[in-house]
Parts: sequence; structure tokens; C-alpha cells
Amino acid sequence: MQAGYPKFIHQSPDAFIVVVGCYAQLRPQEISSIPGVDLVLGINEKFDVARYLAGIEKKKKAEIHSCDLSGSDSFVSSYSVGDRTRSFLKIQDGCDYGCSYCTVPLARGASRNPAIEILSSEALQLLTRC
Ligand code: SF4
Repeated sequence: MQAGYPKFIHQSPDAFIVVVGCYAQLRPQEISSIPGVDLVLGINEKFDVARYLAGIEKKKKAEIHSCDLSGSDSFVSSYSVGDRTRSFLKIQDGCDYGCSYCTVPLARGASRNPAIEILSSEALQLLTRC
């Protein structure tokens, strides 16, 4: 194992490392240069991780799939249930403001949300599962 590899690579040298999230969207080239990283997925691509993993093999350099933020107009619903006292329901993605300390608009794109009817339906689903 080469020096400079993150600790988790030493612990699991055959692990396949996928990096997703805001940092992956903002700095994909930087993340791909981290030794041991195999795949970097942007904010839209992370929802399709199974497709990107199909048939992929470990290589010397990570693959990057990261969208242009202007194309980040999709909304993927999600909520949590059963793992905490409170449940969480996602009602918005992105943001149209530009607070100086925050990377959300840069990493997740413009504000978008599903119709209120869809959110109401998801809230009702949550109630039945709590
Ligand atoms: S803190 Fe970030 S997410 Fe919240 S309003 Fe400001 S820019 Fe938007």
C-alpha cells in the first residue's frame, strides 16, 4: 500500500470507494486524486449509484460523473422513519439564496420542490409507518 492512502484503505484494501454528496459535486477532481477513491458521483448521479457500479473495476484513477449544476433540476423524495425519535421528510432541494458561509446553492443548485399534494401524501405515508 502506498503512503498517503487514507486509513480506511489500509483497513480494507479491496474496498470499492464511492464518494458522493456536496463535496463530490463541488470538487470532483480534488476527490478523484485521493488515493483509493474509485468513483465520484455528483448530486444527480448519486441517486443512480447502482447503475454506475455495475461492471466497474478498480483502476488507478477514479471515475467522475458529476453534472453541470444548471442541469440539477430533479427532485428525489426521501424521508426517514424508525431510526430516530423524529422522522424527517425532504420538502426542498437546493436554495436560491447566497449566504456567504453556505455551499448549498453552489453544491445543490436552485431551489426546487415537489407539488404540495405529493408532499402531503408522503407525510401521510410517514404517519402510517410511525
Ligand atoms: S444558509 Fe444556505 S441553504 Fe440556508 S438560506 Fe442561506 S444559502 Fe440557502
